Amino acid sequence: MGEPKPQIPFLFVGNQLCLDFINTKFVLNGRPVDLLATFSDLVTWLLEGDLLTEEDAITLDRQWGRQAKGKQTLEQARAFRVTLREMVTRIAAGRPVPQAAIEAINEMLSYRIGYPQLTCRKGKFEREYQGESQKANQLLGLLAEATTNLLCSCNFSLIKKCQNPLCVLFFYDTTKNHARHWCSMTICGNRSKVAAHYRRHRSRST
Ligand SMILES: [Zn+2]
Repeated sequence: MGEPKPQIPFLFVGNQLCLDFINTKFVLNGRPVDLLATFSDLVTWLLEGDLLTEEDAITLDRQWGRQAKGKQTLEQARAFRVTLREMVTRIAAGRPVPQAAIEAINEMLSYRIGYPQLTCRKGKFEREYQGESQKANQLLGLLAEATTNLLCSCNFSLIKKCQNPLCVLFFYDTTKNHARHWCSMTICGNRSKVAAHYRRHRSRST
């Protein structure tokens, strides 16, 4: 075991799981950061995105975390993320959804096994998936199903990239006036305000 790596939490600033999934790879201080380094990371993301129960997450991680199939699933998830990023980049630019993206989503959806069941825990309803078996690539099916919400239920004109040109994060603008510009005020909003202030100050003093 090496040194524990510093934990960067997953960002859920996208208002859509498809975008949050794309946002698992971003740029921090000019360097690309990929939060999906292992199969366990993928399982943890799905758990935090409420796509897996804790029980299933533990089972799947135990079963596939050290297997070649787990690694293969992680690689497929990362490749899928590239396809999704291309897709939302096009959507945000007002261009049509590429056929290749629809085909990739449909392929991932075909890995979906099992069926949802409603359960009530502590007064809160949850959908729990019952699978006949726990296959590593069924995670891709769950992921793909979450991405379909973006295409089926969202207004494409509100799918936006953060306006900071150095930031690669996407979000779905659910603000009342549809005036959200930043992935987050604390990450990029403030930085931009500071930069604008600095530019104004500099232009006045020269
Ligand atoms: Zn940003």
